[in-house]
Amino acid sequence: MDNIQPTQSRRSFLRKCALVAGGSAAVSMSRLGSTAPAQAAAVIGGKGLAKLPKAKGPRLVIVGAGTSGLTIARHAKRAHPRFDVVVVDKQYMYCSCFTSNLWYDNLINLEFRADYSFLDAARNHNFIYFSATATGLDRSAHKLYTNMGEIPYDFLVVAPGIDYDYARIGVKEPEVEYALRTSYPGGFTMPTEHVAIRDKIHSFEGGVFVQTVPAGNYRCLPAPYERACMIASWFKQKGIKGKVLVLDANPEITIKAKGFHAAFDELYKDIIEYKPSVEIKAVDPDKRLIKTEFTSYTFDDASIYPGVRAATLIEQMGLLDPESLQKEARIDPYYYNVPGDEHVYVTGDARPMPYSKSANTANSEGAYVAKVLAARAQGKKIPWESPETLCYSMVNGSPTQAIAVDAHYAYDKKTRSFQFANVKLFEQRDHAMAEAYLEWAKGLYRDMFA
Ligand SMILES: Cc1cc2nc3c(=O)[nH]c(=O)nc-3n(C[C@H](O)[C@H](O)[C@H](O)COP(=O)(O)OP(=O)(O)OC[C@H]3O[C@@H](n4cnc5c(N)ncnc54)[C@H](O)[C@@H]3O)c2cc1C
Repeated sequence: MDNIQPTQSRRSFLRKCALVAGGSAAVSMSRLGSTAPAQAAAVIGGKGLAKLPKAKGPRLVIVGAGTSGLTIARHAKRAHPRFDVVVVDKQYMYCSCFTSNLWYDNLINLEFRADYSFLDAARNHNFIYFSATATGLDRSAHKLYTNMGEIPYDFLVVAPGIDYDYARIGVKEPEVEYALRTSYPGGFTMPTEHVAIRDKIHSFEGGVFVQTVPAGNYRCLPAPYERACMIASWFKQKGIKGKVLVLDANPEITIKAKGFHAAFDELYKDIIEYKPSVEIKAVDPDKRLIKTEFTSYTFDDASIYPGVRAATLIEQMGLLDPESLQKEARIDPYYYNVPGDEHVYVTGDARPMPYSKSANTANSEGAYVAKVLAARAQGKKIPWESPETLCYSMVNGSPTQAIAVDAHYAYDKKTRSFQFANVKLFEQRDHAMAEAYLEWAKGLYRDMFA
């Protein structure tokens, strides 16, 4: 991250953003191109075949209708119209995680994030949407198991996102984990958490509101800091005598540090208190107490973002890399397939590469993976393309002002890991960037649904 430089003019960046989307952890060299034997992990799902129309071409099944899955569905169908694409998701309604922080400060309404239908996406992009929960996989028989029956595949993409890992903040008892999930949700997985958090913020009467930031490659690096700004902006506008206490497991703000520090100091001096290197060892939800090795913090309300791991489905399907701290999948880091199996792929935030777990990354990566699938279905090869991480953060609600980062990735032979490349930082907050933020989000929704 040291090599981050503002190397692009603001105007050219904003122009580019209108076009985009529509719209360091190491990956060991020894794992590149490894050919581990195919394992078959089967978990019992529904009985018999799922009720689906007969495949009219090579069947591409995608688990997860999030940013990654929907992008791949659309672009794979475009790149290879013969694909018969089936998208499986367990959610009944779409509601984006990205832009949820803006909703807390009433900068957008709920429709902005949720007014999109899986059915429209399926019709517009000519794929089948199948409402079901994936439960397991038999790779030797090329079968996905779901609670609604089995789905045979020619190619399978698994894009189920993330789950929380409460053990990373010392929480081992299911009772404590349940209390935290319910009363102090992290707000980085299910939309229902966002509703609970918004309610907390809007009914807050004063005192200390804690926002924690986990260690590791957690989902959306800037989002907890952006959320702190949006909560503080709400308190400021409503005259609420509240403090936002940001407890960060990292020694410094993990991205766009200059821009966030400037916002904390200049806009919310008496509201946001930032504490780095706070390694949480335990949480007592009844006493509203967060403990570290040396001290403890009390709070009136909180959003506790624990560590993250790949969605548990990755483990259930037998795709887990046993060496992965965040329980991510073991895949070829360039082509995303399970080593030795060109029929099964893992994408989006469940990937093990140290890319930012963010929507633009999943979207640009998805467009590339779609090309990989189309090429392989036709016996061709294509060169690797880096995903692009374009990530805005709203730091002021009135007037709206944002900061941003735009980066690609390159494999560094010296460190034997993927690193940021061509990084452009835009840390001087301004209104034009806030407008570009909303346009970027609309572009992404268009790419997935329209
Ligand atoms: C608060 C917040 C703010 C954010 N801000 C930004 C931002 O400003 N910019 C940015 O770029 N990104 C941001 N992000 C991150 C971004 O939303 C995610 O990184 C991105 O959506 C990941 O896409 P995905 O497809 O991998 O996962 P998801 O979008 O989570 O999709 C996974 C899908 O898989 C489905 N699924 C899981 N298990 C199963 C199963 N067993 N069977 C069937 N379906 C299943 C889920 O229902 C879900 O629909 C933010 C996220 C949050 C939470």
